[in-house]
Amino acid sequence: MTVNLLDFDLEGMAAFCEQLGQKRFRATQLFRWIHQKGASDFEQMTDLAKALRDKLAVSANITGPKVVSRHESTDGTIKWLFDVGAGDVIETVFIPEADRGTLCISSQAGCAVGCRFCSTGHQGFSRNLTTGEIISQLWFAEHFLRKHLSKDERVISNVVMMGMGEPLQNYSQLLPALKTMLDDHGYGLSRRRVTVSTSGVVPMIDRLARDCPVALAVSLHAPYDALRSDLVPLNKKYPIAELLEACTRYQSAAPRDFITFEYCMLDGVNDQPEHARQLVALMKTHAANGLSCKFNLIPFNPFPASGLVRSQMPQVLAFARILIDAGIVTTVRKTRGDDIDAACGQLAGDVQDRTGVEQRMAAQRLGRLAGIKVVVMNKDAA
Ligand code: SF4
Repeated sequence: MTVNLLDFDLEGMAAFCEQLGQKRFRATQLFRWIHQKGASDFEQMTDLAKALRDKLAVSANITGPKVVSRHESTDGTIKWLFDVGAGDVIETVFIPEADRGTLCISSQAGCAVGCRFCSTGHQGFSRNLTTGEIISQLWFAEHFLRKHLSKDERVISNVVMMGMGEPLQNYSQLLPALKTMLDDHGYGLSRRRVTVSTSGVVPMIDRLARDCPVALAVSLHAPYDALRSDLVPLNKKYPIAELLEACTRYQSAAPRDFITFEYCMLDGVNDQPEHARQLVALMKTHAANGLSCKFNLIPFNPFPASGLVRSQMPQVLAFARILIDAGIVTTVRKTRGDDIDAACGQLAGDVQDRTGVEQRMAAQRLGRLAGIKVVVMNKDAA
């Protein structure tokens, strides 16, 4: 069996090259060919000796994700479904904006946390993705987009680990992927432009601060424990006070001078003025200990099994006003790619547990229903 070189960060690549009797600079060359130039064939690597290319061809491979479908929204958002085997599909979403291109990446097939408002959570947990499966979402999307948009330079400027899964419950596979994103020989993204979003795995927040302190986003969604435990079951293990203390510790290592808190607005559940005032009081208490925060209010993307409803915009704005008047930087997130179900887990839920052909047919059918362009791929097509 050959190894997939997408599974390695630069250190891993160097160790692999050493096994082949090669010097470290060969690892750097390989890394640049793969991540910067999008090579998937050793024959493309013309500055490597033919003997080495032959050796690599029998001992290694560069295998990206299998595309099930690509959905393009009228607002430019692109969503891919990737087949990761055994009936599991994962999602990756590209969100273009005037000054940046953001890629939202999955870290697990399914998720064990089971947040009530999350379609992925309702599907349950299947397995952790490998480092290669995590980084290959960026590898594939970056090089696809360069061709698709006819660009010579980098298209993806920001990465958010906000797709399917709880990234900090797959830490060992996440870490090399993050390092590859930051590596100058890889994607060269700054720590400010890579965000790990967590539902609050407290011990791993501390690990991340030590190992690879990228920007941190925390899914809060409630101002007090009883409500948060109902929405985000992990809160029973790591309650709000412990979580916010971990965030305060993280801040000394973080690349930004604030932690972002995500708050999904659920009609009649957590969106009342009283909740906003409780949130202000909570954040003030922790601000006294040094925590500085920014809030993103997120419109809920409804799905039938949740039994929850999206808050009305006046309610969201009234909530935001209370936070802003209290001096908390607050943004209301735009919905993007609504016409392609770009909300995490929605489309995957519809095609999960079906085999290849059925997956592709389901994706096409959903696209037709939504009146949008769906490009369905052959098994190994880009
Ligand atoms: S919101 Fe995130 S942590 Fe919660 S169930 Fe969904 S994927 Fe998992």
